[in-house]
Amino acid sequence: MKLANRVQALTPSTTLAITAKAKELKTQGHDVIGLGAGEPDFNTPQNIIDAAVRSMNEGHTKYTPSAGLPALKNAIAAKLKRDQDLEYNVSEIMVGSGAKHVLYTLFQAILDAGDEVIVPTPYWVSYPEQVKLAGGIPVYIEGKEANDFKITAEQLAGGITPKTRAIIINSPSNPTGMIYTNEELQAIAEICVKNEILIVSDEIYEKLVYGSASHTSIAQLSDAIKEQTIIINGVSKSHSMTGWRIGYAAGNEKIIKAMTNLASHSTSNPTTTAQYGAIEAYNGPQDTVNEMRDAFESRLNAIYGKLTAIPGMTCVKPQGAFYLFPNAKKTADLSGYSNVDEFSQALLEEALVAVVPGSGFGADDYIRLSYATSLDQLEKAIERIHSFVNAKI
Ligand code: PLP
Repeated sequence: MKLANRVQALTPSTTLAITAKAKELKTQGHDVIGLGAGEPDFNTPQNIIDAAVRSMNEGHTKYTPSAGLPALKNAIAAKLKRDQDLEYNVSEIMVGSGAKHVLYTLFQAILDAGDEVIVPTPYWVSYPEQVKLAGGIPVYIEGKEANDFKITAEQLAGGITPKTRAIIINSPSNPTGMIYTNEELQAIAEICVKNEILIVSDEIYEKLVYGSASHTSIAQLSDAIKEQTIIINGVSKSHSMTGWRIGYAAGNEKIIKAMTNLASHSTSNPTTTAQYGAIEAYNGPQDTVNEMRDAFESRLNAIYGKLTAIPGMTCVKPQGAFYLFPNAKKTADLSGYSNVDEFSQALLEEALVAVVPGSGFGADDYIRLSYATSLDQLEKAIERIHSFVNAKI
């Protein structure tokens, strides 16, 4: 059976491949510690679960409008006003089945064959594949470690061609946890406005920000920038609702309408019950959001020093999200591996710690460790990596 060219060209997700291998080892009885997870390890707050159950008992179990319930779009508009002082009409908001599917729908709505999208590296694994699935071409610009993995306005200017349609800014970033400053965002945005490049601002980790860092949406910087920006966000990471599949886009009405038309022929609407949960997530008390943030921050502070004490390993301290992205090239060399992919493989098979090799994020010398797991497990995992490396040196 012949498969379509577009799926044959897809790169399978490295994150999922590692998770599958870790599961296989676990099934064989091995005590594997998984640091590959991209989801908070907390339960969804009870008030959100209760609201969803209540909605079902009240009979809200039917289709909704394709772009989401008006009450949820109102709750999102209120959230954008409250948190970022941004004003959006409900016609400028579209709710979809998770931020991932909202991004997929966006690229389908804006790209024609051969259109280019600037993807800073290291990138979240799905961006290049989603751009390619829409016929577009990802154009990579390296966010250098020396610049905290962020691209500069000069680099951006050098990557623009007549075919450039959009740029993806993911701050705080998966996998690096780094956050663009207002000045950096301003410089990037000015180039985008001048060249009419759409800014896709993935703000899914907005609530997970640590220390003295803070998050600004690029759309806050001026009206002209806001008009050129589509904000992507959702409840997965902020409210520990990964399985509920609710995300949204906010921005230009024409694009939102096109995305809604597409959704009407694919998902019909995001799951009704999940939408009722999300209304409570945005309108209800936000203290659990802060409690989860605090827990991530204290784990980060507890393990950061232990990680960088591993021979050869260096790591820019993340400012947000829940990942560490150390440079493991020297550690791999010292341990006798010719590259970080092989080192990661050995960590899984011999040290029984699952990390994601950076190659999946467009950065071969790094590994990604998620700290969305208990401190106890995290400390044990880092000890295992340390002893494994010590034994190999
Ligand atoms: N964007 C980034 C950078 C992510 O890391 C993720 C999830 O891992 C998403 C978007 C998708 O989130 P959702 O669960 O809303 O689809």
